[in-house]
Amino acid sequence: MAETLFHKVWNAHAVRKLPSGQTQLFVGLHLIHEVTTPQAFDMLHQHGWRVAFPERTFATIDHIVPTSAQRRPFLDVMAEEMASSLERNCREAGIPLWTPDDDNQGIVHVIGPELGLTQPGMTIACGDSHTSTHGALGAIAFGIGTSQVRDVLASQCLALDPLKVRRIEVTGSLRPGVYAKDVILTIIRRLGVQGGVGFAYEYGGAAIDGMSLDERMTICNMSIEGGARVGYVNPDETTFAFLRGRPFAPQEGASGAFDRAVAWWRQIASDANASYDDRVTFDASAIEPTVTWGINPGQSVTVNEAIAADPQDEALEFMGFQPGRRVTGTKIDVAFIGSCTNGRLSDLEEAARIVRGHHIAPHVKALVVPGSKAVGRAAEARGLHHVFIDAGFEWRGAGCSMCLGMNPDKLEGRQVCASSSNRNFKGRQGSPTGRTLLMSPAMVAAAAIAGEVVDVRTMLEEVPA
Ligand code: SF4
Repeated sequence: MAETLFHKVWNAHAVRKLPSGQTQLFVGLHLIHEVTTPQAFDMLHQHGWRVAFPERTFATIDHIVPTSAQRRPFLDVMAEEMASSLERNCREAGIPLWTPDDDNQGIVHVIGPELGLTQPGMTIACGDSHTSTHGALGAIAFGIGTSQVRDVLASQCLALDPLKVRRIEVTGSLRPGVYAKDVILTIIRRLGVQGGVGFAYEYGGAAIDGMSLDERMTICNMSIEGGARVGYVNPDETTFAFLRGRPFAPQEGASGAFDRAVAWWRQIASDANASYDDRVTFDASAIEPTVTWGINPGQSVTVNEAIAADPQDEALEFMGFQPGRRVTGTKIDVAFIGSCTNGRLSDLEEAARIVRGHHIAPHVKALVVPGSKAVGRAAEARGLHHVFIDAGFEWRGAGCSMCLGMNPDKLEGRQVCASSSNRNFKGRQGSPTGRTLLMSPAMVAAAAIAGEVVDVRTMLEEVPA
């Protein structure tokens, strides 16, 4: 019978049906970080349990890492405690850990694919909502809570309800100045922030097929913002090329390991005649640069569109917008390029293309934070750090940075931030009254230079192709 990738991977990892009706699912890869693990390890120790599969568990420090001075001990006592606790727990359990002193450190959802840990057909779990990112490589990846982190540490299994599968087809091709971020913001706007509850989102169609892995990761990353537990793209030649030669991927050579893996990865993709619980289609050519105006990622408009919202909507008051107004022209205080949504090399390259030869507006503070040390090194090898620094940006070390207020990179007061991250909830960027405008990294770069939200396409016209 024809099946979707979701069902194939689910069935291949199902251990048994539980009396609750849930399925006990084996987890192929468990990624952990400093924030959601201390309590999980404590619970494990209280029961006298050991980590069941340390060889399937990998750790990094990302959320609490200062991005300006990464030397240990961290000045923030709580951050240092979290880092030390993860180090101790990983050492005791024999789990590989990448700290800011290691070349492989970075945001958990950036380093997993980068190192080839994330592979098609896997089940993946991590104590962070944006674990759906890994679906870009054809994995089924679940963001989990602290008690589930404990469960996976102890048993390498999760108890989960099955999901329905919605096929989201993005047909045609994107126009210049329109990016993966605009696509996912458009999808969430139309389907709603709760629209994906109970679903896995399978992304496909010509626009997705033509995207790089980095772009697919941006799309899958924000599936959770549309309510979907999981988002994925079927593995294809782009996926295989991305994985070739990555340190933890099956290796090419006499053993034939890589070729055997590719044969398996091809089989795991959804069958052409698989049936879906729902199908939705988007026309890529109709998608425009998009920016959020509200306090959830579904509250967005295109750069040329006026906000249409109930005047009583609390988001309007919080953000200081009125119905009928455009977000374009809004003065910004801070520009943030980074996060697991848009902190990869191609994001930095596209932003640098806009920035080159310009300087940020005098009233703007602008940060570029690579998603991993490897991204930072690759960007520096291309001279991108000089482009940003010359333009007045701060070039930082890898980490989650201003995506959330758990490290020194925070908004102050009612500052407005043009941000390439994934959440615009009240207080998300560290100030209870701070205001976040989500947009693509290229749009953030354009806003930093103009000092206000602008249509990046007007600046692309100046950039030689
Ligand atoms: S960049 Fe943001 S969303 Fe991604 S892992 Fe870090 S805190 Fe979570």
